[in-house]
Amino acid sequence: MSDTATLAAVSPLSDRLLAMNESATIAMAKKGRELAAKGFDVINLSFGEPDFQTPQYIKDAAKQALDDGYTFYTPVPGIPELRQAICVKFKRDNNLDFLPNQIVVSTGAKQALANAVLSLVNPGEEVIVFSPYWVSYEEMVKLAEGVPVPLVGTLENNYKATASQLEAAITPRTKLIMYSSPCNPTGAVFSREELGAIAEVLARHPQVYALADEIYEYINFVGEHASLANFDEIKDRVITVNGFSKGYAMTGWRLGYLAARADIAAACEKMQGQVTSGTCSIAQRAGVAALAGGRASSDAMAAAYRRRRDLVLEAVKDIPGLNTPTPSGAFYIFPVVSAFFGRTAPDGSTIRDSSDLALFLLNDAYVSSVSGEAFGAPECLRFSTAAADEKLVEAFRRIKVSLAKL
Ligand code: PMP
Ligand code: GLU
Repeated sequence: MSDTATLAAVSPLSDRLLAMNESATIAMAKKGRELAAKGFDVINLSFGEPDFQTPQYIKDAAKQALDDGYTFYTPVPGIPELRQAICVKFKRDNNLDFLPNQIVVSTGAKQALANAVLSLVNPGEEVIVFSPYWVSYEEMVKLAEGVPVPLVGTLENNYKATASQLEAAITPRTKLIMYSSPCNPTGAVFSREELGAIAEVLARHPQVYALADEIYEYINFVGEHASLANFDEIKDRVITVNGFSKGYAMTGWRLGYLAARADIAAACEKMQGQVTSGTCSIAQRAGVAALAGGRASSDAMAAAYRRRRDLVLEAVKDIPGLNTPTPSGAFYIFPVVSAFFGRTAPDGSTIRDSSDLALFLLNDAYVSSVSGEAFGAPECLRFSTAAADEKLVEAFRRIKVSLAKL
């Protein structure tokens, strides 16, 4: 009997739940917090979360919403002003034309992604997930009883899947492709040409939809942000996800959205209407203000992330065994760490894989990271660079000392 079958025999929990992995990002952040609560000076580079405060003008709008008594249920897909403001944003930033009935506002981009996957994928249908991928993609597909099919990009191509790889991976059972650009965890950014080649492949397969996660759009160090929905032939089959967590440092507000063909948006609204309803009324009013304020605060934060990326890349140059590609966006580094596999730690234990290495660094250097395994890249380790400069310097000083013990 498999472990799941054994567990199922003694557990009241559903097979669906038993087959699901806990979010590795959340699990490592929890471990780090537990160690910190015991008094250890832990530097948390596991959780991908801006360390900046939400800009004041956005907080002011939320305070105003409360003072206005804006405390009631909202329409499930979001308040009209916010859906309209999101359409304006898509036109301004991405040259995309959407009507408000094509926008669904959700409790974070995470829910927008889950809404789309659950609304589109039938049991047994394949979802091609560009790999390395963000941890929750695979689990969302499994929740929908779909079959995740990782499409592994090569290090030489900055981990980006190519159009020819995609063409080879599509089968008659393929329903959806999923990717993020800028990518969590690799920081890779798809160019317009690369997305154009992917669009050409999709144009030949009219049963395949695409879920484009653009949540790191504003944290891009190479300039151009390209959207798959810009390609006319396939735009009706692209669901574009974005949100406020990263670009506006609004993780705790739980505000994200998707834009899609009207019938797909209506399906996501129906899904959300049975699970959570409209997201927080006050956060939505804050979202309207955030978008009206444009990109100035986001650009200032992106400049800080870029400086930190450079600072960390400089620090890792000095650490033998870390092979670290240069990220083009987002706020992570994703070094290959397999040089350490098989080595012995001071307590006599063997570092078998990147999970062992992440635990060793947590216990020895008090720095938390996330094993690449949950991102589909077991040879890597992910460190968030969204922390204060001095914390990053100290973290990589400690990491260097600890790794030298192996
Ligand atoms: N997509 C990616 C690639 C992410 O890194 C995150 C961050 N957790 C999300 C979606 C979800 O963001 P949120 O739910 O906070 O909007
Ligand atoms: N996106 C962040 C990360 O990858 C937040 C954690 C999460 O929601 O999984 O670490």
